[in-house]
Formats: sequence, C-alpha cells, structure tokens
Amino acid sequence: MAAQNREITIIGGGIVGCSTAYYLSHHPSYSPETTTITLLEASINGAAQGASGKAGGLVAKWAYPRELVDVSFEEHKRLAETHGGTERWGWRMVGCGTWEGRGEVLTEADEPGTGVGKGGERRSLEKTLGLDGGSKSKASRRAKGLPDDLTWVKESLTSSYTPMAPAGDTAQVHPYLFTMSMLELAKERGVQFVSGKVTSINHDGGQVKSVTYTEVTGEKLTRTIPSTHVILTAGAWSPNILPSLPISATRAHSITVITPPETEIAPYVLFTEIVMPADGRTRSKGRPEIVSPEIYPRPLPTKEIYICGPGDSLKLPETVDEVAVDPEACEAIYKQVASISPEVKSGTVDKRQACYLPVVRGGGGPIVGEVKSLKGLILGVGHTCWGICNAPGTARALSELVMEGGIKCADLRRLDPSRYFKL
Ligand SMILES: Cc1cc2nc3c(=O)[nH]c(=O)nc-3n(C[C@H](O)[C@H](O)[C@H](O)COP(=O)(O)OP(=O)(O)OC[C@H]3O[C@@H](n4cnc5c(N)ncnc54)[C@H](O)[C@@H]3O)c2cc1C
Repeated sequence: MAAQNREITIIGGGIVGCSTAYYLSHHPSYSPETTTITLLEASINGAAQGASGKAGGLVAKWAYPRELVDVSFEEHKRLAETHGGTERWGWRMVGCGTWEGRGEVLTEADEPGTGVGKGGERRSLEKTLGLDGGSKSKASRRAKGLPDDLTWVKESLTSSYTPMAPAGDTAQVHPYLFTMSMLELAKERGVQFVSGKVTSINHDGGQVKSVTYTEVTGEKLTRTIPSTHVILTAGAWSPNILPSLPISATRAHSITVITPPETEIAPYVLFTEIVMPADGRTRSKGRPEIVSPEIYPRPLPTKEIYICGPGDSLKLPETVDEVAVDPEACEAIYKQVASISPEVKSGTVDKRQACYLPVVRGGGGPIVGEVKSLKGLILGVGHTCWGICNAPGTARALSELVMEGGIKCADLRRLDPSRYFKL
C-alpha cells in the first residue's frame, strides 16, 4: 500500500466544512490510498445544525465579495447539474426584489412586535450591501409594480416592488439539504465524519501536527488525530479554537411556514419594509413601526415559506446545540409576514429556530487561505450573510490549496488570513 502523505482534518460540519470535504474528495488527485479526510463536528445532532441548516439559501451573482461570488455561482450551477440539485436540494432560479408596503391588522389580539430576540441591540444581516446604488435605481425606474405571478402578497397593501437584479442572477438552495448532500457525497468517496468537539490544534516547529477533540457521544473520550493539514471551518465558533481571529457572532431567528398544498407560491425572494398597522404600536416619537423580514418560498422538502428576522447580539453559547430560541421573536416574524400575505396567514408554522452568523469584525471577509506562520493551518471562516452562496467557491479554493499547493480558481489575496490577523 502507498504511504499516506496527507492527513486532512476539517473542523466544523457547516456548509463550508461539508463543501470542503466534498471538493477535496472529488479533486482529480485525491485517492483514499494517499489521503485521509476527517470532518469533526461538535453537535450531537450531526452536521448543519447551525447557520448552514437555518439560513435563507439565496445564491446571487450580486452577493459579495465579487471574486468569491464569481466562482461560487458557477460552482453552484455545476453541482446542481452534476448531482440533481433541483430534486435533491431545491436548486432553482428565483425572482428577488424589495417589497415596500403596509401590514394589516390580523385580529384584535395580534401584536406583531419587532422580531428581534431578547438578546440586545438589533443588527442588520446586511445582504443588500452587495448591490450598487446604480443598478437599484435603474431597476426602480423600470419596475412599476408587482410581477403578475407574485400573488402571495396583497397588491392592495403594496407601495412598491423593485427587482434587485436581472433575471438569471439570483438562485436558491435549501441550505440544510445542500449541506447534507455535500457531506453524503464526500462520505461516498471515503471522508470520515466524527462527532467530536475540537479543543486544540497542536503544532510543532511551525507546522500543524494534530487535532485534539472530545467525543460528544458515548464515553466522551479525548482523542488526538495526526494531521498534516487542518482546515478550520467552525463558523461563529472559530475564535474558540483560534482566539486571535477577528470574528464575532450575530444571532438571528427564523421560521418556516407550510402553506396549503393547493396554493401556488411563485418563486420570489422578498426583502421587505413593512409599515406595521398603527393600532397602538407606534414608537415613542409617534412614528409607525417599520420591520424588515426576509421571505423565501421553497419547493423542498415540502412547499414552505422560510422567513427570517433581524439579528441581535446575544452571546454565543458554548455549542450549536445550546443556541437559545426566543419564541416571541419567532411569533413576531410570523405575524409581520401574515399581515401582508394571506398564504402565510393560512399556513402552519413548522420550525421556530435561531442561529449565529459569523461576522468579520471591522468588515470584509470571509477569511480564506493558509496561515503563513503555521504551515498546514487553513481557514475558511467569517462568511457573514453570504456563506450559503460562497461555500462552493471557498471549498474549491481550499481544495486547490491543499491538493495543488495554491489557489487557482480565483485571485483571493484580498481574503488572505494575513490581512485580517496575526497568529
Ligand atoms: C438568518 C440567516 C439567514 C441567512 N441567509 C443566507 C442566504 O440566504 N444566503 C447565504 O449565502 N447565506 C446566508 N446566511 C449566512 C450563512 O448561513 C452562513 O454564512 C453560513 O452558514 C456559515 O457557514 P459555516 O459553515 O461557516 O458555519 P456554521 O454553519 O455555523 O457551521 C460551523 C459548524 O462548526 C461546528 N463547530 C463549532 N465549534 C466546533 C468545535 N470546537 N469542534 C467541532 N465542530 C465545531 C458547529 O457546531 C457548526 O456545525 C444566513 C445566515 C443567517 C443567520
């Protein structure tokens, strides 16, 4: 048997870690004879329990940063074509626009609220930062109103609908199904999935040597895996393993609503600005409450509408399994969207959930590449609000770094770890 020359350990089973496992195990020079790949995940419930299982799933050419988006969008298309993504993870093109209007009172008892969890200050998820003002205002002039098939928001409550990008520039996936598919396809090629919480990356003489973790099931033994390459993809938890990383965490709530089977829900993702009805819920200065839930209809696993609210600053818990969900924040998100959509109002709330977005402090990111001062330590962290979109590009770049010695698919110098922190 040939000598093993690569022992790759990936830390974190979110979309970035699972996609990296996929790209490494599908790289032309990968062979299980010479390369072992182990993916460690700290949740007792398996992969994709954090943001990667609870995100919206938008994949857009107008996302950021541009150099990663250009690779990622094409890779998303290729993966969907290669592995039946339409049926397997709900890949499809969608319309996408900003919707502005007012909500209507649901019933006497309804108190829509703000949708921010009881976790401190309100934070924006900042998805629309990638749009330049020019394309938005041009689109505004063109768009005079709702598209004919966007019938699941009430026309009478609409002030304006403005497409955010040309047709063909925006798509979606179901993030949980996509992440799990990447993992399953990687496992088929020999990747080992291990339920374990990493406690340290060990090194010697400027080179990574191993990773120590504690099993999260069974006897909870502490074990060490020899590693020639360690790829850190632990999302918002990455600084727990590498404390100098400039990454913070923003919590956001979301729900899914199962719509009645007979209702037709055209595929539009909406970034809303809803003026809530002024039945006593006005701000102290007398201004009406304006809320901005994001709405994502999905064809899989069943016809459903995903809705997320704003972020908050509640402290990151020790593991993904301990993320707190504020039921009032979920209720508020539901009522806000039910106040503009009869289809949501007549649907059934299925999931009420929260997750943490990994944000690079000071802006920019994600951070993608090798840490020059510690050979073999590679980062794929800080994907902010575009990690679902940018995971395939990140994963392809990281697989090239490990298997070919350098990133070939794009010029990612702007995302290099050395620009963000010193070890
Ligand atoms: C409400 C919301 C909506 C979003 N919508 C979109 C969208 O529409 N489009 C888009 O592109 N992006 C979206 N995002 C952003 C996207 O979800 C994230 O950027 C992405 O999921 C980050 O993936 P990740 O793999 O880096 O992190 P995560 O999904 O957080 O995965 C990290 C994993 O590492 C594990 N881990 C942590 N510590 C350890 C340890 N010590 N040992 C082992 N494992 C560990 C965790 O348990 C977790 O499973 C959204 C985010 C939010 C919050």
